[in-house]
Amino acid sequence: MNEVAAALFATLFPADCRLCGNPLTNISRLPVCEACLSALHPISGVLCSICGERVEAGFAPVANPEVARCGLCARLEPPFIKAAAYGSYESGLRELIHLLKYEQVRPAANVLGRMLAEAIDNLRPLFGPQPPLVVPVPLHVRKARQRGFNQTELIARAATKRMSTESRLAVAAGVLVRKRETQSQIGLSRHQRRENIRGAFAVAKPDAISGRDVLLVDDVFTTGTTVSECARVLRRAGASKVYVATVARTLKAEAEHALSQAEPEQFAMAAAV
Ligand SMILES: [Zn+2]
Ligand SMILES: [Zn+2]
Repeated sequence: MNEVAAALFATLFPADCRLCGNPLTNISRLPVCEACLSALHPISGVLCSICGERVEAGFAPVANPEVARCGLCARLEPPFIKAAAYGSYESGLRELIHLLKYEQVRPAANVLGRMLAEAIDNLRPLFGPQPPLVVPVPLHVRKARQRGFNQTELIARAATKRMSTESRLAVAAGVLVRKRETQSQIGLSRHQRRENIRGAFAVAKPDAISGRDVLLVDDVFTTGTTVSECARVLRRAGASKVYVATVARTLKAEAEHALSQAEPEQFAMAAAV
C-alpha cells in the first residue's frame, strides 16, 4: 500500500487500535492493528478429542492424543460428535469477539469467520458424503433486535463465504430458535446450568434437518452447556449427527486465571471445575 495514501488516511481518519491503543496506520474497516491480529493463534497442545478442552499431561494418559479425553467427556458422552475451536478465549481474541458483540464493529466478523473456517476444516475429515448444514446458535428475538444482528450468524456466513465452491457449506439460519432468554449462569453448577438452559431452544424447521448432519456454530464454547442443549434438541428433531465449531473456547487453566476479570460465564466455568 502506498505510504502517502496511508499517511493521508491516518491524518483524515485518525484512529487507534481498539485492542492495544496504538495509532492505526493501515487502511482497514477493522480498527485493529496488524500486530494485534497476528498475535492471535490457534489452540496448541494435546486436546480432548471430543470437546477440545486441553488435556494436561499427568492428569490423564495422553499416550494416544488422537483419542485423548478430558475428565468430563470420559465420564459422560456429549450429544455431539466433536467440538472444534480456533483459539483460546482470552486476551486479543476475547476482545475481538467483544468488539463485534458489544460494540457492533461488524468488520470483526470477517477475521472471526476466517478462524471459524479453520476450526471447521479440522472437522472435515469426519463429515459424511452429504456435507452438514451449518446452524448458528440463535439469539432470543428480543436480544437480536436490540443488537441488530446475531454475531454468530455473521461469523458463520463470513466463514462459509471463504470456502471454495466445492467445499462450501450451506448456512441454515432460522432452523433453531431461542424460545426464552436464559438468566445469567453466574455461580451455577453444571447441573444447574443445564436446568437453566433446558427448554430454551426449539427446532422451528424440522424438515430442514431431519436425517441430516448438522454443524452447530457458536462464537464461544464456554462450558459446553449451550451447544450440548442445542445438539440434544437438534437430534430429538431428527438430525443424525451434530458437530460443533466455535471461534474460541475457554480452557480450564485460563478460566481459573481469568477469575479476576469478571465475565459471568467464566465464573460458572470456574465453579464447575
Ligand atoms: Zn493493536
Ligand atoms: Zn472433553
